[in-house]
Amino acid sequence: MKILVVNAGSSSLKYQLIDMKKESCIAKGLCERIGADDSKLIHKVKGKEDYVVEQAMASHKEAVQLVLDTLVDKKVGVIKKLDEIDAVGHRVVHGGEKYTESVIIDNEVILDCEKLSGLAPLHNPANIIGIKACKDVLPDKPQVAVFDTAFHSTMPSYAYLYAIPYNIYTNLQVRKYGFHGMSHKYVSELANKAVHKKSSKIITCHLGNGASVSAIKDGVCIDTSMGFTPLEGVAMGTRSGDIDPSVVMYVAKRVGRPFEDVMSVLNKKSGILGVSGVSNDFRDVAKAAEEGNERAQLALDIFAYRVKKYIGSYIAALGGVDAIVFTAGVGENDAKMRAKILEGMEGLGIKVNEKKNEADSDKDVKSIGAGKVKVFVIPTNEELVIARETAELIK
Ligand code: ADP
Repeated sequence: MKILVVNAGSSSLKYQLIDMKKESCIAKGLCERIGADDSKLIHKVKGKEDYVVEQAMASHKEAVQLVLDTLVDKKVGVIKKLDEIDAVGHRVVHGGEKYTESVIIDNEVILDCEKLSGLAPLHNPANIIGIKACKDVLPDKPQVAVFDTAFHSTMPSYAYLYAIPYNIYTNLQVRKYGFHGMSHKYVSELANKAVHKKSSKIITCHLGNGASVSAIKDGVCIDTSMGFTPLEGVAMGTRSGDIDPSVVMYVAKRVGRPFEDVMSVLNKKSGILGVSGVSNDFRDVAKAAEEGNERAQLALDIFAYRVKKYIGSYIAALGGVDAIVFTAGVGENDAKMRAKILEGMEGLGIKVNEKKNEADSDKDVKSIGAGKVKVFVIPTNEELVIARETAELIK
């Protein structure tokens, strides 16, 4: 069985064709700057040179068509005919309270996702455009929606509710939803297997440009750091993470700008970029810190401290911890940051083995702990989660 996984953004479309027998990626790629004159497709097949098509794509529909043409292309293609694709799995960021599991897409699902766009105005509209484009070009293939929020739908109400008037939740659906669900699900399942316990307590740290930490008990999410939007939680590349909401009004009043501008600063100009003034890329900030830039060092200190605090609070919420998992760009690659986050936690049975932490590994699960609590580095694979859920639903 072959599943095409699609992750549509407002002007981009990422794809992967996955062979479910081996659970391996046959080809993947990206269409960027859709809608502009200089849009292009970059198509990657393992062991081969990247294939780039510089061609104006006026819409997502044209992008999907170009992706499919490329997949069956005589020279660079990986399949003979489109019929070899069994279904399309779509990443949809917000499933609200209704979609606690993946679903086969019909008109009702599309309408619901459109209604949910108010909760995820940057993401859901783009995801829907991707779905409609694939339906147009592949009308006979089942389309499945896999939601970023779904894995967190198991949180108890005392974890997902804010301590604000209850009718703000019932009337406006204001609550914690959580994001990065597919990643937390993927890595926690592998960690669960690796701890070999009937009942497990796992803390997963997805640390990329966006970052979130989740508490997972017996395979079920009981809390996560992102909230109503991805702004809540740990500090991130450009997001502030947790902040006293009074700051928004105070700053807006003092600088005479609307709330929207302050929110935009909290989302796009804060985090390690905002504190360091250098970059949102951890590599650049680490380099600047090494060269003596104090604010760069401070940004990294703040990031590590905030992740540490979430880990600590989730150890309390779980009543202990069997394994801590690091994943995503920073979590998978930045050994120094991993060590920094976990330093001084020996009293809780948490210690990093320096050698193992620094060593390269191409394993699915790299174990770097030296204490009672296991510490794993697990490369995430959100596309595989989408493909698995899609395959399961169309069976
Ligand atoms: P997203 O999908 O949220 O954009 P990723 O999971 O791809 O994020 O992570 C991207 C971030 O990972 C980059 O901003 C970069 O700072 C960080 N990163 C990648 N490789 C390294 C590395 N070797 N050392 C430190 N940070 C890294």
